[in-house]
Amino acid sequence: MKLLSGKPIAEEIEKWCIEEVDKLRKEKNRVPSLRVLQYGDDAASKAYVRRIEKNCENIGIDFEYKIFNDDEEGFLASLKEANESKEITSIMVQQPLPSSLSHAIEMINPNKDIEGVTSASLGKLFAGYKSLIPCTAAAVIEIIDYYGIEVKGMDAVVVGRSNIVGKPASILLQRKHATVTMCHSRTRDLAGHIKRSDLLVAAVGRPEMIKGDMLGEETIVIDVGTNFVDGKLVGDVDFESAKEVASQITPVPGGVGSVTNKILIRNIVESFKNIYND
Ligand code: NAP
Repeated sequence: MKLLSGKPIAEEIEKWCIEEVDKLRKEKNRVPSLRVLQYGDDAASKAYVRRIEKNCENIGIDFEYKIFNDDEEGFLASLKEANESKEITSIMVQQPLPSSLSHAIEMINPNKDIEGVTSASLGKLFAGYKSLIPCTAAAVIEIIDYYGIEVKGMDAVVVGRSNIVGKPASILLQRKHATVTMCHSRTRDLAGHIKRSDLLVAAVGRPEMIKGDMLGEETIVIDVGTNFVDGKLVGDVDFESAKEVASQITPVPGGVGSVTNKILIRNIVESFKNIYND
């Protein structure tokens, strides 16, 4: 079994980001900047955003974090300002949002949409145009490319069909000429689909749901899942049993998640280039 660690990829992307930001600082006398907007006090969101803040600091990206409570107008005004400002080159709107603000995601300027969540970004991805790609789906492909996995012609199974992970990962795998089956909670024979797959992308959100005995002997496993069980981070795949069967497998932690975090930063650099047309 070969371990598909995300760490060397994360380091490579981070190095690229540092060099690019240095170059922009010298050549344009500017650096990329991120405004994060949150409505309410969701603790998990706050912890996640603080990690992004640290990453931005390390790379030299300007960072702003605005949390609103009982002020929907202020929240929307801040989003509008960020959309229009040349000083703010990327935007993240944290979820969950109250239903009265759910339209805020669609309001994000697609050129600044570093999570690739607007229908404009997703539509471009679907049509094969250059766009900011949802970070986790991009991380799956980054791992495949880094380890030289030739997915052309493979039977790939993606379990999960969310807009930010399963669907974009499926589209990106199809672009690389895999034959993709998307599975979900109503799939009749999930085990059969997984058993027949050459490549499995697990993006379910159910801790260690996929066991080793469900895999084929040569299956390559990309585990997107991040689930906390008794304070421990585990994937959607049961790593201990899966590593005995899979030909290659990503660990959790240290796999997809570590690459995803750096791709978000890379998207901040890319969005700067959207604004300043480089
Ligand atoms: P999500 O929006 O909750 O979607 C989960 C998907 O799994 C849905 O399509 C659902 O099917 C499917 N599903 C649920 N139970 C199933 C079952 N028993 N059998 C087959 N399919 C089932 O989740 P998400 O946002 O895509 O995230 C998926 C996982 O990735 C989570 O563990 C999340 O924490 C993790 N994640 C990791 C990163 C990272 O950087 N590593 C980033 C984002 C997310 P239906 O559509 O039929 O409901």
